[in-house]
Amino acid sequence: MESPLLQIKDLHKSYGSLEVLKGIDFSVSKGEKVAVIGPSGSGKSTCLRCVNFLEKPSRGHIILDGERVGVKPGSDRLMSDAELAPQRAQMGMVFQLFYLWPHLTVLENVSIGLRKVQGVPSNEASEIAMDMLEKVHLGNKANTFPGLLSGGQQQRVAIARALAQRPKLLLFDEPTSALDPELVGEVLNVIQELADEGRTMLLVTHEINFARDIADRVIFMDGGVVVEEGPARELITNPQAERTRVFLSKIE
Ligand code: ADP
Ligand code: MG
Repeated sequence: MESPLLQIKDLHKSYGSLEVLKGIDFSVSKGEKVAVIGPSGSGKSTCLRCVNFLEKPSRGHIILDGERVGVKPGSDRLMSDAELAPQRAQMGMVFQLFYLWPHLTVLENVSIGLRKVQGVPSNEASEIAMDMLEKVHLGNKANTFPGLLSGGQQQRVAIARALAQRPKLLLFDEPTSALDPELVGEVLNVIQELADEGRTMLLVTHEINFARDIADRVIFMDGGVVVEEGPARELITNPQAERTRVFLSKIE
């Protein structure tokens, strides 16, 4: 059997004496869409940030496509940021806030990683960036500056930027929670279109209906552990654990 694209094994993370992740284990197969839900403060963002080593796990392994993330092969030595860059590029991350460069055009925001991190020649990087902007329906905004765009458009630029690196896996951390309600739909539509292309996704979201519709599997986290996981529709309509029931009853 093909091994999963992403494996999270015995992941622990503490900040000082605060243990935020208490042993997380789950996998994501190629082409699978997995949604992570759970109360605020349960460790969802920390988990995602440990996957691409934006945070260093206190214990445990992250394995992407058979390679340990963040650790030099054949040793226990942690990679430097420069050594990590190629692995990070395989995991396109989209944050709650968009973090676009205000002084760069939309096209430059999308192409800069290709040029600076992957060494793609400028012309080629611009072409790829343009294709990605068209994918998020913003081809007509390529030469605009981010400050002139709506929050929904800025988030779509951030998605194009993540796509430009041709990642194997997309990581979304509550991509719509900073948006005005009327802008949420356009971002969810783009994520849905990417899902329909068969991309592999790990998505933290508080949009429970969206999680139910888009995800193959849902993981419910609380207090730094995975309380329950299962097929999306089943878990959301018929949760087994009391804690999952309480959480879902509060947000429906
Ligand atoms: P979630 O995304 O589920 O809301 P987080 O992963 O952001 O949860 O946070 C989980 C816990 O870890 C919270 O108690 C939060 O205050 C704490 N935490 C997160 N990041 C840090 C940090 N850099 N330093 C100290 N504590 C942190
Ligand atoms: Mg969070």
